[in-house]
This record gives sequence, structure tokens and C-alpha cells, in this order.
Amino acid sequence: MKKLEELTRPNIWALKPYSSARDEYSGKEASVFLDANENPYNAPNNRYPDPLQWELKRKIAPVKHVLPEQIFLGNGSDEAIDLMYRAFCRPGRDNVVAIEPTYGMYKVCADVNDVEYRNVRLDANFQFKADGMLAAADGNTKLMFLCSPNNPTGNNLDRKEILSLLERFEGLVIVDEAYSDFSDEPSFLTELERHPNLVVLQTFSKAWGCAAIRLGMAFASPDLIGILNKIKYPYNINRLTQQEAIRMTEQHYQVKQWVRSLLEERARLMKEFGKLDCCRHVYPTDANFFLAEVDDAKKIYDYLVDRGIIVRNRTNVTLCHNCLRVTVGTRPENDALLEALEKYPS
Ligand SMILES: *Cc1c(COP(=O)(O)O)cnc(C)c1O
Repeated sequence: MKKLEELTRPNIWALKPYSSARDEYSGKEASVFLDANENPYNAPNNRYPDPLQWELKRKIAPVKHVLPEQIFLGNGSDEAIDLMYRAFCRPGRDNVVAIEPTYGMYKVCADVNDVEYRNVRLDANFQFKADGMLAAADGNTKLMFLCSPNNPTGNNLDRKEILSLLERFEGLVIVDEAYSDFSDEPSFLTELERHPNLVVLQTFSKAWGCAAIRLGMAFASPDLIGILNKIKYPYNINRLTQQEAIRMTEQHYQVKQWVRSLLEERARLMKEFGKLDCCRHVYPTDANFFLAEVDDAKKIYDYLVDRGIIVRNRTNVTLCHNCLRVTVGTRPENDALLEALEKYPS
């Protein structure tokens, strides 16, 4: 890996971050707080939250087997994705490489930041090769985006190829594990010690059932996390979100139970979906959704919308012609989908 200083935009490396009142005094011992121009009334919402969310990070660290200093918390994973561009990619000069098809935010953030986005098509099994990614890169490639399990294809990417890329690429490799709780394969968090160029993204939005609170996690070396902390908005995670996330980490068993029942439902739903007249193929998945090729994705999507059932039409996505992406719901929700499609006139 290149030195972090070499990868970081020079203006960001040199940046002196905004210092908030809560940065300058963060102890709890004081009893009179007259430093932040807050209103003394309306506790507890009158006080600015902890800018580095230490209490929450100390709860997440043992669950993920990392140090609190290896965690960045963002307003969704989307904030971490955007900050990776802002920290490392010089607009109009640097570029990133990503698999295709994949999660749409990598490209949107590239466009917002005026960074060239190069994509490398997955093969017919939705797999990639480290060689292909490296062939698309040059001396100005700062980041590579991998998503495993991948959205919208649902499958885990080949672990050997990810490890090979981590060994051989001089820049940073981002492995987005938004769906890894639903997969049998181990998380890449265990590789953080061996690979200083690895950034793992996870989120409270999927298995944790907390999409509304907007909380994403990036895991990396303490030095890299320090750079993200330096450029984020000072109070990016509000107090209500921090409090709710702390409550969730205390009911970690609940998440495991949700995952177990969703995996059972996933197996049942995929099996029944495959029997439908309109279904041509159900792709294997490691996530809480699956991709299915149907005879006419647009028609079936509209037919379902008329019946109040919404799936995602992915027909215009590379390699996904006539594919619907179906999220696994509760048993009654999945039955409603199956019953509607059994009545679909073929
Ligand atoms: C849903 C999803 C996320 C989560 O984004 P948040 O901003 O944390 O809600 C991240 N990556 C992928 C690939 C996703 O599908």
C-alpha cells in the first residue's frame, strides 16, 4: 500500500479541523456548561451530542471485535462513501474502480465529487477477478469499491479474489458488507489487521432493522479513521440516533433472531418463486433479497404495483435484463407476493 499521506488529498492531509466546544472539553465531571451557547432548558435535547460518539463506539467494538478507534460512524454508510471520495480523490484528476453492476451510490458520489468512475463488468456468474480491476487502474486510482454480498445480484464476491486485490492494489479497497449478516461467510473485519488498505462498510439499515435512524459504520486502521473524523460534520450523528443505537447493541440477540427467520423465509420464498409461470430463473443469494429473471419485468412490476406490492425493477441494470429484485419480508408479506403472482395472466 502507498503511504496514507500519499493517498490523501494534500489539502485534507494539511487540514486543521473545526474544533467544537465538545472537542475542547469532553469530560463528564463538570456540572456547569456555559461553553457551547446551548439553551439551559429542554434537557436532554438542549445539549450537543458527542462529536465522536465514544459511548456508542464502545458498545459496537466488542460486537464487531475491533477497537473503538477503528470505527467511523456516519449518517448512513452513504456518508462514509462520500467522505472516502472527499478525503482521497482529487476532483478532475483521480479515479476509482468498481464492479458493475453494484450499489448506485458509489457512482453518484463520484459524480458529485467530479471523480472519474471506472467500472469492470462482473462475469455471467456475477463474479469478478482482481486482475480485471487492476487492469482498469492507473497511478491515479485511489479507491476500489467491492460490495459483498453484492447489490443487486445478491451473491458474495469470491473471497480469494478480494484478498488478492488487497495484496496487490496500492490504494484503498472498500468492501461494502451491508448484507453480510445474512451470509454464511465470515466478515472481512478479521482482515483489518493484515491489510491497512482495507475499509469495511456496514450499516444499521438492514439486519439491524434501523434504516430510519441513519447510522452507517466504516471500519479501518485508526489512522484512516482519523482522516474521516477530521472532515466529517462535527455533530454528524444526532443524540437520538446514538441513544437508539446503544439500545440496539444491548439487544443484539434480537438481530440474530430476525436474521434466522428471514433466512428461513428466504429459502421458502425463493423455492416458491421459482415455481411461478412468469419466473425464468432465481439467482442464488447471500443477502436478504434475491434477483429473479421473469418473462417481462416491467409488466410484472406494474401488475404488482396495482395490487399494492412493490418490488424493485432492475431490468435496465447491466446483466439484469428482465430482472426483479425482491426483498424478503414477513411470511404474510411474502405470501401476498406469491398469491398475486400465481394469479398473473401468463
Ligand atoms: C442498503 C445499502 C447500504 C446502506 O446504506 P445506509 O446509508 O447505511 O442506509 C449500503 N450499501 C449497500 C450496498 C446497500 O445496499
